[in-house]
Order: sequence, then structure tokens, then C-alpha cells
Amino acid sequence: MSHSHKPVSITCDDVPAGTLTVDAARERIKAAMEPVAGIERVALRDALGRVLAEDVRSPVDVPSHTNSAMDGYALRGADLPAEGSARFPVVGTSWAGRPYQGEVGPGSCVRIFTGAAMPDGADTVLMQEAVKRADDVIEVRSGHRAGENVRQAGEDLPRGGVVLEDGARIRPSDLGLLASVGLAEVNVRRRLRVAFFSTGDELRSIGEPLGKGDIYDSNRYTLHGMLRRLGVEIIDMGVVRDDRGATRSAFREAAAVADVLMTSGGVSVGEADFVKETLDELGEVDFWKIAMKPGKPLAFGRIDKAWFFGLPGNPVSVMVTFYQFAQPGIRRLMGCRDTEAPVMRVPCVGKLRKGKGRTEFQRGVLMRDEEGRVVVDSTGAQGSGILSSMSRANCFIILPRESEGVAPGDLVDVQPFEGLM
Ligand code: AMP
Ligand code: MG
Repeated sequence: MSHSHKPVSITCDDVPAGTLTVDAARERIKAAMEPVAGIERVALRDALGRVLAEDVRSPVDVPSHTNSAMDGYALRGADLPAEGSARFPVVGTSWAGRPYQGEVGPGSCVRIFTGAAMPDGADTVLMQEAVKRADDVIEVRSGHRAGENVRQAGEDLPRGGVVLEDGARIRPSDLGLLASVGLAEVNVRRRLRVAFFSTGDELRSIGEPLGKGDIYDSNRYTLHGMLRRLGVEIIDMGVVRDDRGATRSAFREAAAVADVLMTSGGVSVGEADFVKETLDELGEVDFWKIAMKPGKPLAFGRIDKAWFFGLPGNPVSVMVTFYQFAQPGIRRLMGCRDTEAPVMRVPCVGKLRKGKGRTEFQRGVLMRDEEGRVVVDSTGAQGSGILSSMSRANCFIILPRESEGVAPGDLVDVQPFEGLM
């Protein structure tokens, strides 16, 4: 990592000198970070939301025994009539969980239910609707295939096969899948510790009276929410005054206990000076100007063993830069294989204003139009201080640098909040 006073190298000719594109910044962050080393073994239910630290292999075949896919009759495929029909006496029953103990001899059959183990000798199941039964004899017509309606042992997952890969974030379906192969515990990456604080003399905590020019600190709450969703351990360090001594000790304290430290505010030009001074002294931090809107300033680097993200102060900018930079970086540290949120392309119903040169993350609402097509509309005013635009939105509309606005009906990229948040 380069030190903060070195100039940022330019990767594109259409962005101003000293400015990074969104993709370049994200790539640098991802390239710098590696999964944390610690691994712990957890009980299956506690693995929800955690990140696997190993390829999990199945200790058994799934299904564990060859079984019937239908309610019907099990028999030998070689006995099926090539033409006309044949009759088979029913010599017993195989229930799910209560298999038939004998062997199905030539010319006979066994009543069988879905999921029941195939009895010895039989390799084919005829659906009950496909045969005629009178007393304890079935009549079978030609046209069946030997081996039909049978699920082979190990056809879902063979013993030793990979059930889930290293880096998978465990979802409810994964808990079920792990249970289906009989695993009670798995190895996951240790939980990350993320410390954060807000900076600004104007910030008041909830419960305090607001003086002239004061505002409530909202970023600490959005950060709390965003980090909780990531499943990390949170260390909330409160508000730190715009003061050299307080900033210095807050950075020191946080870096000593956390894997990641995140701040909001205090990184924009002019304001950054003593934050920058402190960081230059304590660590290796780059101050970036990113060709994006909102969220232009971003600081990234290390303070001791902790990674540092200096997010901008505006409430919308905090969220945009968190999701576009901090979250992919944290997911990488967590050991996640997939760090990118999905993006899809849909028509925009209204006109969107935009100037050339910066990637914009506008707030949008995904919905269905009268014809049932998925479309997106703007939430309206897009100021970086208008946090209600985030609350009203259910997606980001991502407009590329070169875009000079969107006309009604144009296709735009959207990043749904479900899956991101
Ligand atoms: P800064 O980057 O510190 O100049 O902050 C930019 C804008 O965001 C200013 O209007 C700040 O008052 C506002 N801001 C900074 N931190 C917070 C916070 N924690 N909660 C709400 N607004 C904030
Ligand atoms: Mg400030």
C-alpha cells in the first residue's frame, strides 16, 4: 500500500487527475485484504450467517439407499412384458423407514411407497396408477422401462463429494443440506470485530438537547444496522470531537481491539487535515477522491493491525460508500467467496438527470408496471443528506460515469437492497 502523500495513480483517462474510479477503488481494497486466519468449530444451528472455512464433504451417500421415487410396485425390470401384459403376485410391502426384508424373486413384486428402500432383487418401480390390482395380484401392460422410478444411492451427493464450498455464507438451505448428510458441526471463520465512531463537533447523541447548528448523530445508527446485518461483532465508540487529542486516542484505542475501524465524517478536503495528520502518524492510509456521487472522499488503509475505512459524513454517502467499498472488503476478510451484490438491468420509467464524469448511485424503487414488467423509478430528490431517499428506496440505480442522464424507457442497472442489505 502506498503512503498517503504519494499521488494516486490514474487508471482511466476520463477521470480527473488524482481521482479513482469506483471499480479501481474497489479492486484496490479487495486486492489488499485477505480472509482472517482464525477458525472455529460451531454447532450446526449456530453456523447460520457464518462463513465456511473448509470444503465440507459428505460422509455418506445421499440418498443413503436406493429407493422408490413413487408409490407403486417394485419388481425386476427383466420381468416386464415386451408386449401384451403380465401378472405379478404381491409378496410384501416396503414402507419408508420399514423396508421389506426378503428378496423379490422372479415373477413377483412388492408394494412400495415413496422413499422406501428398494428390496433386494428389484430394480424397477411401476407407478400404482400404471397397474391394475385385483386382490394380491397386479396386471402390468407393456411399455415400461427397466429401472424407472428408482432413485439411486448417492445420486444427489456421493460419499466424499463436496456439499458446500469454502467461503460459502451459510443460509437456511445450507443448514438443511448439512443436516441431510448428518453433520452436527462445521468449521467457520472467526467473527470479525468492527469498531466505529462518528466525528464532528455538531453531532449530538439521542437524548441530548440540540443547540443551534447541532444535529443528531444518525450515521452511528445506520452503521450499526449495516454491520449487524453482516454478522460482525460491533464496537460502538460513540462521537469523537473534531480535536487532535480525542481523534488520536480514539484511533489508537480502536486499532488495538478491532479487525476493522470505520469512521464517518472528517475526510473531506479542508476538514481532513488533522485526521490526515493523525493517520499519517499512526498508520498507512490513502485519501482517495472517487469519481462517484454521492460519496466522493474515502480514506482506506491500515492502522497497526486494523484495516481502516474513513467514510464521508453525509448520511447517504456513508451508506453508499459502505455498500460499495467497505462491505465487499469486510466480506473478503470474513472469508466470503462472493463479495459482490447482484446487479440487474431494467427500464427506468422516468427521466433521470446526471452530469458526465462520475458514477452515480441514485436511489430507486423497483416495482411492476401495469403490464407486469419490472421497472424502476427514482425516489425523487437525490441530495447526499436526504436519508429519507434511502428509506423510501429499495435499490440503487447505478449510472455509469459516461452517462449524461436517462430518458423514460431507457435501460438502467439497478442493485436491489435485498441481497445487499
Ligand atoms: P463531514 O464529512 O464531516 O464534513 O460531514 C459532511 C456532512 O455530513 C455534514 O453536514 C455533517 O454535519 C454531516 N454528518 C457528519 N457526520 C454525521 C453523522 N454522524 N450523522 C449525521 N450527519 C453527519
Ligand atoms: Mg465533520
